[in-house]
Amino acid sequence: EGSRAYAGKCLAALEATAELLRESESMLGDMDAIAGDGDHGRGMVRGSAAALRAAAAAYSAGAGAGSVLIAGGDAWADKAGGTSGVLWGAGLRAFGERLGDSESPTADLLAAAVRAFADRITGLGKAKIGDKTMVDSLLPFASSFTHAVAAGSPAEEAWAAAAATATSAAAATADLRPLKGRARPLAEKSIGTPDPGATSLAMVFTAVGPHFTA
Ligand code: ADP
Ligand code: MG
Ligand code: MG
Repeated sequence: EGSRAYAGKCLAALEATAELLRESESMLGDMDAIAGDGDHGRGMVRGSAAALRAAAAAYSAGAGAGSVLIAGGDAWADKAGGTSGVLWGAGLRAFGERLGDSESPTADLLAAAVRAFADRITGLGKAKIGDKTMVDSLLPFASSFTHAVAAGSPAEEAWAAAAATATSAAAATADLRPLKGRARPLAEKSIGTPDPGATSLAMVFTAVGPHFTA
């Protein structure tokens, strides 16, 4: 029963994600248009909407938390298009795999799932801190959350603090020049604007915290 209740919270997290990204589509597109190809908002909307549909279908069919997120991740990767969609989809699948269906997660299990999300994305995309990608807000989030949980913080507080860390880390990417992805050829133009993928990641992690940690 605990697992089924948590599956509902995972679905609510994907609902919040899809809604947030719909509201932010043009902002993220404009940010990506400065040195990239301008499709980041569109891709995130398409990916998160597909994830929500697939996750809702899995939930209705009786899936547990991890399986709901895995279904969402696969649909996100399939439908989003673009680099960020492949990475988000694969990351979400890794998060769901680590979380599993059988238990209502402890803070430690959530931290392991967050690390699995980050490891999958860095494993596939090979970006390092400072390359001006989503990894620049993701790794500070993962490290802040993991350390706070290890120090005994309740998941809710640890997630909120990590989301604030990710938000400042995303803003700080404005000073960097991109070393990975489509924005690299126009690197100089990108200086002064934050990375769109780092920005959307911080926004999504902020929005889903109350669902994953409630
Ligand atoms: P595309 O670049 O294919 O048009 P998007 O516009 O949706 O895809 O996403 C761009 C974002 O993807 C960048 O802002 C950056 O955060 C992220 N990104 C690009 N390459 C990588 C990579 N190798 N590893 C991690 N993130 C990456
Ligand atoms: Mg793009
Ligand atoms: Mg593109």
